[in-house]
Amino acid sequence: MPDYKKPLPHPTPASRPFWEAAKRHELQIQRCTKCSAHIFYPRELCPECLAPDLQWIKVSGKGSVYSFTIAQQATHHGFAEEVPYVIAIVELDEGPRLTTNITGCKPEAVRIGMPVVASFDDVTPEMTLVKFRPA
Ligand SMILES: [Zn+2]
Repeated sequence: MPDYKKPLPHPTPASRPFWEAAKRHELQIQRCTKCSAHIFYPRELCPECLAPDLQWIKVSGKGSVYSFTIAQQATHHGFAEEVPYVIAIVELDEGPRLTTNITGCKPEAVRIGMPVVASFDDVTPEMTLVKFRPA
């Protein structure tokens, strides 16, 4: 999809499993095998107990809107055709929060606490972005 005009993520060794799961349309986050903390963003040590023993687990993709804003102005030319759009922080049922977009409803319909579920946007053959839509 050479006409994709927005910046794309650059997977790192720590985040690559997240992006590979997204490509399979699965939401995966890390879980500490020592203290059971659910972790996002991807990293190499547990932020709760500093253990290096993190595993990747598939999660439901269910959560709720923790906070959001409606972008009215494009800060990058690639977003010019999409304004207004919603930039949100979604709190997963498992606890961690992700910065994402809410799609599948009008921006003005988004509310704090609104139940949402992960959706997967195959933006290029190599990259799938995780977004959320009303549950
Ligand atoms: Zn831990």
